[in-house]
Amino acid sequence: MNILDFHTHQTDATDALIAVDPRRFDPLPGHYYAVGFHPWETVETITEEDFMLLERCARHPQVLAIGETGMDHLRGGGIPVQTAVFIRHLQVANETGLPVVVHNVRSTRDILDARRTASLAAVPLAVHGMSGNRHVARTLLDAGCYLSFGQRFNPGALLETPLDRLLLETDDAPVTIHEVATLVAQTLHLTVDDVKTAATGNARKFLGINPAL
Ligand SMILES: [Zn+2]
Repeated sequence: MNILDFHTHQTDATDALIAVDPRRFDPLPGHYYAVGFHPWETVETITEEDFMLLERCARHPQVLAIGETGMDHLRGGGIPVQTAVFIRHLQVANETGLPVVVHNVRSTRDILDARRTASLAAVPLAVHGMSGNRHVARTLLDAGCYLSFGQRFNPGALLETPLDRLLLETDDAPVTIHEVATLVAQTLHLTVDDVKTAATGNARKFLGINPAL
């Protein structure tokens, strides 16, 4: 099993972790998923039944992570409800033993605080679409997070990220994962192959994929 593209919404992507809303979860054979309610969804309308569905999906063998979930100060519902929904995702992750794919727009503090106040600081997080500067990267790295880089990133943040915490993604951008790996390799002065090898190894480790698979 090879996960090179750590975060995409393209529902038929291969070698990828496909982020999908549990209400639209319809797994294809040989594909792997993260399930969660995106913070841009109208989080106020998520019901108890929806959270039960999230937990059921999380136990599906092709689901390797919870997400994307997280917080966004520029878009989506109010911060209190976003926080509550994010914590519910952390709880499901904790119960099912899965790591979490996090959407973070100007919410680094809120995300880390929510994890801590909910006593769920041990739940592994990967912040996707990493676009913050190197100070944001440092704060997240110090909190143990993996960082996933896509088409647009701050070069200082990428240079701050150790090679063993680096992930690659296409998200919903019109790029291939090879193009993203090439951009990242240029900034790091590494070969594209080295970057791809590191990112796939990191994804395996973060997602807890059995080395025999
Ligand atoms: Zn996304």
